[in-house]
Amino acid sequence: MTGFPWRTAPPSAAVDLLGLAAGRSAIRFRLPGDVDLAQQCAHAHGLSMEYDGTYAVWSRSEAHGRRVMQVDRSRTPHVAELGDLLGYPSCCTNAAQASGEAGIDALAAAASRWRLSGERALLDISEYSGGVALLSHVPCGPDCLESVAQARAALAVAARLASTAANPGRWQAIATRFRDHTPVSPVRTTFPFSRTSFHK
Ligand SMILES: [Zn+2]
Repeated sequence: MTGFPWRTAPPSAAVDLLGLAAGRSAIRFRLPGDVDLAQQCAHAHGLSMEYDGTYAVWSRSEAHGRRVMQVDRSRTPHVAELGDLLGYPSCCTNAAQASGEAGIDALAAAASRWRLSGERALLDISEYSGGVALLSHVPCGPDCLESVAQARAALAVAARLASTAANPGRWQAIATRFRDHTPVSPVRTTFPFSRTSFHK
């Protein structure tokens, strides 16, 4: 079993992986090196990988991964379509489309300033780049229930990895950060998330 290329991928790839394991159709992350290692790791999990020299796309089918790359490269506005292909809630992708690709950073900055209480605290993406978040997208608002549902599913995977992975540090950081909202229901993942994978 090959590990995930943590040496080269950004910390935020951990957040992306949680989303994928929790049911998203594809993820896209920066991969400046260790491309062969990433490919082996994807294949070991029954996933396909596309690579454009900078970004890797992992998905459940080659056709879907190719489509993500194709849309990502297109010169016409594609924020909503790309978001749909990556499995983000449509309310959020529509909000992002309205602000345009250049406006997403401003949306993310605004979202980082939300005062979130109760279960909505799961929507906190302020530490995404450091790899401590549950969502890879900017929620359309602090009351987005679809985002809360996705975050809850990601947290369930993080909590499981925090107690089963051989090297659980990064998963513990996420599970601990959102500990007050750890789901008590059984965890289901949509692809085989082995005990030892992604631990390096
Ligand atoms: Zn939304």
